[in-house]
Amino acid sequence: MKLLEDKIKNEGRVIGTEVLKVDNFLNHQVDPALMAAMGEEFARLFENDNIDKVLTVESSGIAPAVFTALALHVPMVFARKKKSLTLVDDNYTADVYSFTKQETNHIIVDKRFISAGERILLIDDFLANGQAVEGMLQIADAAGAEVVGVGIVIEKTFQKGRAILDEKGIRVESLARIAAFEDGQVIFVN
Ligand code: 5GP
Repeated sequence: MKLLEDKIKNEGRVIGTEVLKVDNFLNHQVDPALMAAMGEEFARLFENDNIDKVLTVESSGIAPAVFTALALHVPMVFARKKKSLTLVDDNYTADVYSFTKQETNHIIVDKRFISAGERILLIDDFLANGQAVEGMLQIADAAGAEVVGVGIVIEKTFQKGRAILDEKGIRVESLARIAAFEDGQVIFVN
């Protein structure tokens, strides 16, 4: 998506060889017009898939997920992050190791908000090693819901997340695909 790639080129900051900071339009300050455009694009990509619900993880997935859900006319649910687990009975849970924060979070979704047979679209801000998406897959699986696909805002193709999802046969659509970071510059795929 050209609009997003331009935004990354102009406002993203490369940290080392693996991390991109986009806190001026996605991860802290949010550009609503860009989020709306991305929501429309995800909705277009999955328009024939009879999505019942959009699922993401707090907090950075929420902005793109809510605009996607708006465009698809379905609800959006975000998994909440917890340091420790209490009262697990009412919730589906999964462990997610965060590559950027180097810590494990439990993610939880109340059983009332995801049901057997629902067709789910997962949305997240980044795809790196695939841990966040794997956690959401576990939750959908536990609920008996079907994950129809995954929409990613920024995919880093040099980390292992995409390969893990390809191996599982899961459809992944990314709006920007990054091949590498070189000398502080973002190199996009193609
Ligand atoms: P994964 O679970 O695929 O390893 O990583 C996905 C999560 O880690 C994303 O939800 C995002 O919050 C965070 N993340 C991974 N790589 C980056 C990055 O390069 N920049 C930022 N800002 N967050 C990242």
